[in-house]
Amino acid sequence: MLLVQPLTAPVTPVEALRRIAFLLERSRAGTYRVEAFRKAVKTIAPLSDDELRQRAESKSLKDLPGVGDSTAAVIAQAAMGELPAYLESLQKKESAPLTRGGEELYAALRGDLHMHSDWSDGGSPIEEMVLTAVELGQEWTTLTDHSPRLTVANGLSADRLKKQLTIVDGINTSLGDRFRLLKGIEVDILDEGDLDQTEEMLGRLDIVTASVHSKLRMNEAPMTRRMVKAVLNPRVNVLGHCTGRMVMGSRGTRPQSDFDAKAVFEACLEGNTAVEINSRPERQDPPDDLIEVARDIGCTFTIDSDAHAPGQLDFKALGCERAERLGIPAERIVTTWPVERVLEWASARS
Ligand SMILES: [Zn+2]
Ligand SMILES: [Zn+2]
Repeated sequence: MLLVQPLTAPVTPVEALRRIAFLLERSRAGTYRVEAFRKAVKTIAPLSDDELRQRAESKSLKDLPGVGDSTAAVIAQAAMGELPAYLESLQKKESAPLTRGGEELYAALRGDLHMHSDWSDGGSPIEEMVLTAVELGQEWTTLTDHSPRLTVANGLSADRLKKQLTIVDGINTSLGDRFRLLKGIEVDILDEGDLDQTEEMLGRLDIVTASVHSKLRMNEAPMTRRMVKAVLNPRVNVLGHCTGRMVMGSRGTRPQSDFDAKAVFEACLEGNTAVEINSRPERQDPPDDLIEVARDIGCTFTIDSDAHAPGQLDFKALGCERAERLGIPAERIVTTWPVERVLEWASARS
């Protein structure tokens, strides 16, 4: 995986806006601030360089929908062949790696088993997520939007998922051998351990990441049964953010769920289900002691971004730091594998 190399002049206005949005998302800036740059990309993407230059000269960029003071300045400077000042200052502040440690694992990463698009609660189109993964030097990634019952996150019905799969096919056709977008889902683990999507649709996916999003305060015994049943389900490949904890961030903190970690991770091993190291800074899930339990049991892991915006794809650096510090070798981490091996592993049991 490559670090993000700073851009130098000349850059196109679209490149400049995209990079600013990426760096802001990566630094966890508020959605509202990032949104302006993403919207401006959408507006100017169809316009020619000539038109943008003319509009920059005649100071009419702000007549375009979704273009305001700061985005107009970036577009104008880029259109005139300069490195936009805002991009330059942001690159100075935000281009360093997100953390120290884990560099070797970070360099070994090839893919991701957990990310969202604007089809559910992500902020960007599938194409933008994929393009950014390519730019980060990844070889493959997995689209895992939410399942129907998670209505607050605009979870996908079977019909919408079906439509999404044809779009994934189209993206793969246009990318050729360069990159592979796997078909996936982040499926809710229902109260009794069943999965929130039809068997038919689950059967059409490459990867099923299963997570608990409801009744997180269930008692230990039923929660353990619920999770064990899910990870033993032959359709399930990954156990997502297993404790549900929140350690920081705008949504506040939340304690981890109560379950028998040993029983759940032993079931993961038996069921060939990987334990996700969720890289989101507010989750850092599982906690260190549980990663050690899974490590000692012999589980396979995955280091996932759980990105809801392109810049968040780089959060995996944070997961790498934890995995390396806790002694998880790259060999046991699915997201360091070539895509053929991932597909073989994932289909071995479905
Ligand atoms: Zn989730
Ligand atoms: Zn997620």
